[in-house]
Amino acid sequence: MSFEPVIGLEIHAQLLTKTKIFCGCSTRFGAPPNTQVCPVCLGLPGALPVLNQRVVEFGTRAAHALGCTVQPVSIFARKNYFYPDLPKGYQISQYERPLATAGRVDYESGGAARTVGITRVHLEEDAGKSLHEGFPDSDRYTYLDFNRSGVPLIEIVTEPDLRSAADASDFFSRLRAILVAIGVNDGNMEEGSLRCDANVSVRPAGTVTFGVKAEVKNLNSFRHVQRALEYEIARQTALVSEGGRVVQETRLWDTAAGRTVSMRSKEEAHDYRYFPEPDLPPLELDPAWIEEIRETLPELPDARRRRFVEQYALPEYDAGVLTQSGDVADYFEAAAAAAGNAKAASNWVMGDLMRKANEDGVSLTSLPMTPAALAGLIRLVDAGTITSPVAKEVFEKMLASGRPADVIVSAEGLARIDDDAAIEAAVRQVIESNADAVKQYRAGKQQTFGFLVGQVMKATRGKASPARVNALMRSLLEGTP
Ligand SMILES: [Zn+2]
Repeated sequence: MSFEPVIGLEIHAQLLTKTKIFCGCSTRFGAPPNTQVCPVCLGLPGALPVLNQRVVEFGTRAAHALGCTVQPVSIFARKNYFYPDLPKGYQISQYERPLATAGRVDYESGGAARTVGITRVHLEEDAGKSLHEGFPDSDRYTYLDFNRSGVPLIEIVTEPDLRSAADASDFFSRLRAILVAIGVNDGNMEEGSLRCDANVSVRPAGTVTFGVKAEVKNLNSFRHVQRALEYEIARQTALVSEGGRVVQETRLWDTAAGRTVSMRSKEEAHDYRYFPEPDLPPLELDPAWIEEIRETLPELPDARRRRFVEQYALPEYDAGVLTQSGDVADYFEAAAAAAGNAKAASNWVMGDLMRKANEDGVSLTSLPMTPAALAGLIRLVDAGTITSPVAKEVFEKMLASGRPADVIVSAEGLARIDDDAAIEAAVRQVIESNADAVKQYRAGKQQTFGFLVGQVMKATRGKASPARVNALMRSLLEGTP
């Protein structure tokens, strides 16, 4: 029997507000512990929360971008549990009536178009952070940092629509691109501003009933999502294939060991005793304001991808890669416009620039090559001023020196050689010094021709017009007895 995985994700995304959700403390990452706190976010008795309007605006933007219906009334609720980094003994979240419901996101996986339903988007506050290591007495004590306490989050819950680990990873990647494009999240998974929990179960292929699910917590990279789910799907499939049963539980991904491990079973699961937050009134949004926020949305990655295919006649693949990041898409559009050659701009961005950015471990837009400078290089190739092999060399010199392409080409004499006399001299030289190859060609070995042309290109450092070299080589080889 073959089994099919069923996966749903819960994603926590930190909203990019300057201050926390219920107080005026800064949300800046990396400050010394407990320097961005006040009675509200420390949960001191008598302190009252005041909702940050910007949080509502960003949450609403995200909800629109995920195709959700934004509810005119939503209710904050207390989620009660005890944890050392949660000083109030409850987290303010939304439960029965979330900010937004019933959305959908289109994305691609393995070249196929797919859709995931979004069950809900709700607002909540983050907890503090327990520091279990890094102190001389960390073997005996846990330290607490409350800077993160009260940082605004949205939780995005998907329908169980994902059917493979790659699906889940590709969707998560698309979701990140959307949140970053609309300016509500920085996409920084290493700093924890985007985190993902996955609910996964398996069932016999072709059936509709869901199997018992396990929840895998805190997946903070696309790679971890993919690997943890691959492991978990294989674990559950092996278990049920042998007649065993999956236990409903929470599991953690152990990156080093490459496996998921049980954290707690649902028998110990919390009853959160949700009830409406008495210190905050229902969140009532004017439908006109909700629409206003929708109109402030920029072009979303999926729409931009489709536009790139239509407007620039790019292959789907190129458009998908270029729209993964808004910055890269902006860079491409600027270079394409300045160069007047979109496909060439796409090739440089997806090829040499992305390779260079990866090698240096920096973002593509921080490389010392502006879109205008790249366009200058493309125009030199298109005008026939330099050959393609020389363009690669000029590209490297531009990155190293920051000088424009035309300056490098004239200073270093890299312009294409169209002068027939100069090319002919080089061709004659190659014919003379490669008597064996010439003899083979004349005896009918056609491949030798390419070798001889290559020798000329090498002798001219790639600057000779390949068309002229070909023509002269042919006439000299065939014209002379
Ligand atoms: Zn505070």
